[in-house]
Amino acid sequence: NEYMASNRRYETMTYHRCGRSGLKLPAISLGLWHNFGGIDVQDNGRRMLRRAFDLGITHFDLANNYGPPPGSAEETFGQLWRKDFGAYRDEMIVSTKAGYRMWPGPYGEWGSRKSMLASLDQSLKRLNMEYVDIYYSHRFDKETPLEETMSALDQAVRQGKALYVGISNYGPEETREAVSILRQLGTPCLIHQCQYSMYERMLEGELQDTLLEEGVGTIAYSPLAGGLLTDRYLNGVPEDSRAAGASIFLKREDVTTEKLAKSRKLQELAAQRGQSLAQMAIAWVLRHGRVTSALIGVSKEEQIDDIAKLLDNPSFSSTELDHIERILGE
Ligand code: NDP
Repeated sequence: NEYMASNRRYETMTYHRCGRSGLKLPAISLGLWHNFGGIDVQDNGRRMLRRAFDLGITHFDLANNYGPPPGSAEETFGQLWRKDFGAYRDEMIVSTKAGYRMWPGPYGEWGSRKSMLASLDQSLKRLNMEYVDIYYSHRFDKETPLEETMSALDQAVRQGKALYVGISNYGPEETREAVSILRQLGTPCLIHQCQYSMYERMLEGELQDTLLEEGVGTIAYSPLAGGLLTDRYLNGVPEDSRAAGASIFLKREDVTTEKLAKSRKLQELAAQRGQSLAQMAIAWVLRHGRVTSALIGVSKEEQIDDIAKLLDNPSFSSTELDHIERILGE
């Protein structure tokens, strides 16, 4: 059946300027790392993408290796967007990345010009697109001169294959250097993508300060800690959850009694705020206005509905913030 986007799609979402660029990103972005691969049900993927877009989520985050199998998330998205979003391409921001192992041999990973530009061409084919909006170096490569990786990003923009560039998982020092090289090349660094949640706080401090000083936007991935900061695991590990599945990034052993005890207390606080734990966890990531967008994952469209409701109560009192710190510090 044909898709017509909701004509109310811009009524509730908020959009934040990405650093000092001209681009605004939705407070909530959708990542396709899990649940959009060749092993997943494409119809479910279609429903989730439609629901996200109807709620004003204009930004879709991919990488060459998302699946499984690697590449299949881009293929799924490539097929679905052509069918459903063909008329809306100029309302969408599509991101992809290269850096993790994608094909055999020395050029299938890391940050050489060879690898970065070949991977982008492969991604564009799978995505069925002429350009992506944001192209990232997915991880810092200590063996390749940073100038080479950054000039490959710059070249992607000059070739018209990407509109903006970003870096992901770079440390504070590496970030400062990359930002300076990109500025000299005339292609400013738009955004840094890093892990950030109540359970993973390495963004705070030097990295966040650097990004603010340099006018680079921040997009926080895994803001729900893969599902630990939701009600998903509070009564055991459901069979259809990430921890019960094949993901090596959240295993049954990661659902510890210690984490569950914290999540339970956090959920009580969320309930007092009239929110689900997932809503509060995303609101918390966005609380100071320093993070441009929270990059979530979902396995069902209802999860998107749930998270979008956080916009009804996005702010915290200082008492609530202190309470959260006490729970996390216990
Ligand atoms: P999250 O921390 O948002 O975890 C997503 C999981 O949380 C979902 O799969 C679902 O689990 C659960 N969940 C989501 N919403 C709800 C809800 N409302 N109620 C209950 N449970 C919920 O993020 P991800 O770890 O999935 O990462 C998000 C994106 O970030 C990725 O898709 C990718 O684009 C990006 N990323 C980038 C990385 C990088 O190196 N640059 C690394 C990792 C991620 P379930 O599936 O069990 O239902």
